[in-house]
Amino acid sequence: NGFELLGLAPELVRAVADLGYVQPTAVQNAVIPDAMNPGLAGGRYTDLMVSSQTGSGKTAAFLLPVLHTLLQQQAEAEAAERAEFERLTAEAAARGEAAPKRPKRKSPLDPRHFKAATPGALIVCPTRELAQQVAHDAIELVAHCRGLRVANVVGGMPYQLQIAKLQNADLVVATPGRLLDLQRSMQIKLDKVQFLVVDEADRMLDLGFSDDLAEINQLTSDRRQTMMFSATFAPRIQQLAMRVMHDGGKHVK
Ligand code: AMP
Repeated sequence: NGFELLGLAPELVRAVADLGYVQPTAVQNAVIPDAMNPGLAGGRYTDLMVSSQTGSGKTAAFLLPVLHTLLQQQAEAEAAERAEFERLTAEAAARGEAAPKRPKRKSPLDPRHFKAATPGALIVCPTRELAQQVAHDAIELVAHCRGLRVANVVGGMPYQLQIAKLQNADLVVATPGRLLDLQRSMQIKLDKVQFLVVDEADRMLDLGFSDDLAEINQLTSDRRQTMMFSATFAPRIQQLAMRVMHDGGKHVK
């Protein structure tokens, strides 16, 4: 399977194989290695400005590297947690005490444990239909990833259900309006977003989301990786790229 050669995690290679993808498409070959490569600038991942048409396989081109890095970070966090637990157990044994209990996971559905969602990755899409399609693809790609959660945040859907699913989400696929609504009502915080993808940036501007994008840009960390996908590189897209990406992003065709 050609995806294995791109260095993707085995869980993701299995998922693409299940979907029947054998070879990465041109945009996937161009984007995935660059996107997963920790940048030289203080370990930051490179910003990318990608020219891409619908049907090119662009969705997997941004989802796969983001999911790969989230998986890696999750594995590192779990290893650190295990090491800490083993250290505490060894210390307790040296004092002749019983092993400490593992901390219990708190149920996100219990209102006493309510916390704003703090996803590590955010995909913004111009329309509800596109956001739902991207979330659908993401759910297929995380089929073998234990513990990576995907949530969809779009207008015209009941709030309560979205909010419940949002808790504990690692990757959120959203349209700007509903996302900022939930941010203002403190259901979601965007300061932990390390990966921001703007899908169909040209349509985003056509639909008047320029101010919303500026706000999302402000609310997320400067150190995040940003990938912008657009069918055209018109001057207004270049201006947006300059505003939301370090040096306007590396151009990928
Ligand atoms: P997109 O451009 O992301 O809308 O993708 C267009 C279609 O191509 C979708 O139906 C994907 O499931 C499919 N697809 C994406 N990548 C591949 C691949 N490497 N091999 C075969 N089909 C793919």
